[in-house]
Amino acid sequence: MASIYQKLASLLGKRALGEPDAMEPYGRDESDLKFFPPEAVALVQSGEEIREVLHLADLDGIFVTPRGLGSGKTGGALPVKGGIVLSTERMRGIHQIDAENLLAVVEPGVVTGDLISRVEEEGLFYPPDPASLDVCSLGGNVAENAGGPRAFKYGVTREYVLGLELALMGGEGLSIGRRTVKGVTGMDLVALITGSEGTLAVISEITLKLLPRPQRVETFLAVFGDVLSAGRAVSQMIRDGHRPRTLELLDEQVVEHLAEQGKWPLPSGTAALLLVELDGEEGLEAQLLRAAQACEASGAREILVATDEARRRTLWEMRRQVSTMLGEMHRFRVAEDVAVPRAAISEMLSRLHGLAREFEVGIATYGHAGDGNLHVNVVYDEEIAAARVESLIEAIFRHALDLGGTLSGEHGIGVTKRRYMHLEQSPALLALQQKLKGAFDPRGLLNPGKLLP
Ligand SMILES: Cc1cc2nc3c(=O)[nH]c(=O)nc-3n(C[C@H](O)[C@H](O)[C@H](O)COP(=O)(O)OP(=O)(O)OC[C@H]3O[C@@H](n4cnc5c(N)ncnc54)[C@H](O)[C@@H]3O)c2cc1C
Repeated sequence: MASIYQKLASLLGKRALGEPDAMEPYGRDESDLKFFPPEAVALVQSGEEIREVLHLADLDGIFVTPRGLGSGKTGGALPVKGGIVLSTERMRGIHQIDAENLLAVVEPGVVTGDLISRVEEEGLFYPPDPASLDVCSLGGNVAENAGGPRAFKYGVTREYVLGLELALMGGEGLSIGRRTVKGVTGMDLVALITGSEGTLAVISEITLKLLPRPQRVETFLAVFGDVLSAGRAVSQMIRDGHRPRTLELLDEQVVEHLAEQGKWPLPSGTAALLLVELDGEEGLEAQLLRAAQACEASGAREILVATDEARRRTLWEMRRQVSTMLGEMHRFRVAEDVAVPRAAISEMLSRLHGLAREFEVGIATYGHAGDGNLHVNVVYDEEIAAARVESLIEAIFRHALDLGGTLSGEHGIGVTKRRYMHLEQSPALLALQQKLKGAFDPRGLLNPGKLLP
């Protein structure tokens, strides 16, 4: 009988991979999970090929795991049950940028940062900017409903997805959504697919909403002597009605790591940082001044304004490499991403301090504080019993939920958080989602072992 690889090769020729060496990159992602080798990889190049692969897999009962660029942090793109990895990495076409209707039509494998740069060249703006924007795809962003620093003002990926071309298990193609600004015909399946982590359908084309590009951007770094003052500054700015496009927080532990890295000159006594960015046209200086004053009123010791583009880029480079830095500087790291209501940020930070003391580990926290979305990194260098780490992770989730928060602000549930879903969602809600999954994929062949317990 023909192997999975041979069947794929009959469809895709050399774009079917089956050699063990070739499986290496497709059995990993940016989660800390182990290697899960697929049986074969399909490097598809069109919606038609995606449908053909799903048709073939359905006929033979083969598991299929959709994959963008593998930057996911919860194991969503890992073929945990083997089968085919369906990679969209070669689908990088930007079919249309329509300045009149403010929309773009793209293939799912387009690198997010590439679309952002392309539309900016045309005076347009695509706001969702995950810190991984140079290494993730728009298909992955839609599947995970990715956020990013600019979400504070502009919202997350969901707000920009107008329409999708989908392929269902079995090979049927579907167009959902619209190209118009408004539109309420039928149920909002675009909203259902966005954030469904590749468990319901494979996205083969995306129509995205664009905005006019803001004329000016101003960025500053507020330096604090302690993280709770930085947390207070965030709450104060929100209460006072400031609308910066980003409000990024880096806590004491992160600042210590940055200092150790030695690449980023920070004033002595720096214990926490807020990276604040504003955009617009008229009155931006006045807005910047008011935001800086709000930080000072909450205890900021210094305000460092990025006076030119090079300085602004350096600040963002520092911020964007934090996740990688923490992973590289420790033997062990567990990266979580919870969200709490904005007003509860200071309380969550202080509870995390308590947990770090109780469990005697480092907890380095940073993230999109304006959205209450905190990336909580448990870091340590001496081995600790797995059960102890698990109790700490569960305690972090329980505190976030106790404050009215959620298990994941943007990285999704994937494999790593599946077992905690019951902490947040009722049995009835989980059962309803299982029924939805069954309606799209009755045999459970698409992205098995993800999202739902
Ligand atoms: C350093 C770093 C920083 C990050 N910062 C952020 C951040 O600021 N905000 C944020 O939201 N995330 C962030 N992430 C997480 C990650 O980049 C996002 O989840 C991103 O959306 C994943 O895109 P990808 O193309 O790499 O998807 P993959 O990792 O390849 O896949 C992710 C999920 O999407 C599904 N999928 C992929 N393509 C399709 C498709 N065409 N159809 C259906 N399902 C599909 C997969 O099955 C999987 O479940 C970060 C990751 C890293 C490593």
